[in-house]
Amino acid sequence: MDVESRVRKEGKMHNKGVSALEEVNAYVFRAGELLKLSKDFIKAFSTSERELIISIPLRRESGGIDVLTGYRIQHSSARGPRKGGIRYHQSVDLDEVRALASLMTWKTALVDVPFGGGKGGVTVDPTTLSVREKEEVTRRWTRTMVNILGPHRDVPAPDMGTDAQTMAWIMDEYQRINGFSPAVVTGKPLGLFGAPGREEATGRGVIGVALGALMKLNKKPSEIRVAIQGFGNVGVYAALAAQEAGMKVVGLADVSGGKTNDKGFNIKEIIGKYKKVSEIPDGKDLSGDEVLTMDCDLLIPAALGGVINDSNHEKIQAKIIVEGANQPLTLSADAALQKRGVVVVPDILANAGGVMGSYFEWTQNIQEFRWPIERFRDELDTRMKIAFDSTWEASLKYGCDLRTAAFVVSVERVATAFKLRGDLL
Ligand code: NAD
Repeated sequence: MDVESRVRKEGKMHNKGVSALEEVNAYVFRAGELLKLSKDFIKAFSTSERELIISIPLRRESGGIDVLTGYRIQHSSARGPRKGGIRYHQSVDLDEVRALASLMTWKTALVDVPFGGGKGGVTVDPTTLSVREKEEVTRRWTRTMVNILGPHRDVPAPDMGTDAQTMAWIMDEYQRINGFSPAVVTGKPLGLFGAPGREEATGRGVIGVALGALMKLNKKPSEIRVAIQGFGNVGVYAALAAQEAGMKVVGLADVSGGKTNDKGFNIKEIIGKYKKVSEIPDGKDLSGDEVLTMDCDLLIPAALGGVINDSNHEKIQAKIIVEGANQPLTLSADAALQKRGVVVVPDILANAGGVMGSYFEWTQNIQEFRWPIERFRDELDTRMKIAFDSTWEASLKYGCDLRTAAFVVSVERVATAFKLRGDLL
């Protein structure tokens, strides 16, 4: 069974009855204990500030009306406007969006940008939507959410199944109601107030932290063979940055299938020529699942959540995993891999380049001033390094793994803001 069907069959039960939100809360709880925080804080942050669930009637071009479910979950505004992507996927459900919204709170705090956490989505297979249908779904989602969105309330961005065009529709629909306000959404096209550098930011950040980990482990990029699951926004730019850093990308997979090539793929050439991994002519075929367990040094899951779980963690051969996707490891797979000495760079650090890039775009929109791409890249690289170093230092200080350390840094920052506001604690 392929990874997507299995995740769907498991009904979002990431790990034997533990929901995705419970997994995130378990990490928050662990960090809270290390920081000796009151249990009230953990209680307050185990739930969301606000949750909106909507119906989206969609007139299908093929005839008939489908009624889709849409979500926006606002987890926290303790450190600023809520920030987080919108996902269009058939597996989107309340538990997943809640978990991802909470992760955004910890991610924005870890990389120290002035945002809180939120997430949205629509339960729909985006490959079944025509362009017109996707626009209608997006405009309806925006209209229904309009009172809870805003540059200083909640700022969406792309996630799986949504892209720069989707963000342009959100900006336009919001503007019809509230007037010109490009900072209401990030990840917009360059021709419509997007920021040069934002599109590549998540993948670039993934490799930035991978290089940080390699340095700490005394390994050279040229010794590293990389496998990447997911060849969308995150996977493509991570592959490109890995090649530019001197690593060899030996495995690639997307929903169409996978390929492996011992000599390493020429990513620049592939990106220009092929739309799907299965179309790449060189290399041996493998499934979207097999890329996770193939022989490599660095594994980058950059597709769905829950893909490394009890069914396959024992077969993982990589010594370093950098989580491009959100929650690609279940709680028990994570524990088992850490026990085997595999270094796991957690999602809230590894893929935070996206929200960092969104922050730069938001800042430029508010200032009405465009940065050159060199400034964007420099700021991104510098701030990702600071976030990596603080996580590494916390792991040494508390004698814990990198995921726990990342939560320690972020939970401490959110708790401080919460206390200073005079909330509860
Ligand atoms: P995307 O839609 O651009 O790409 C997703 C990729 O995953 C596609 O190549 C798709 O074919 C592949 N995929 C889907 N099912 C698969 C399967 N069963 N086996 C193998 N490949 C499969 O999405 P994205 O924006 O690249 O996001 C990927 C992950 O990264 C998600 O978990 C998302 O939450 C996370 N993320 C994205 C960003 C961002 O800026 N785009 C930021 C932070 C985190």
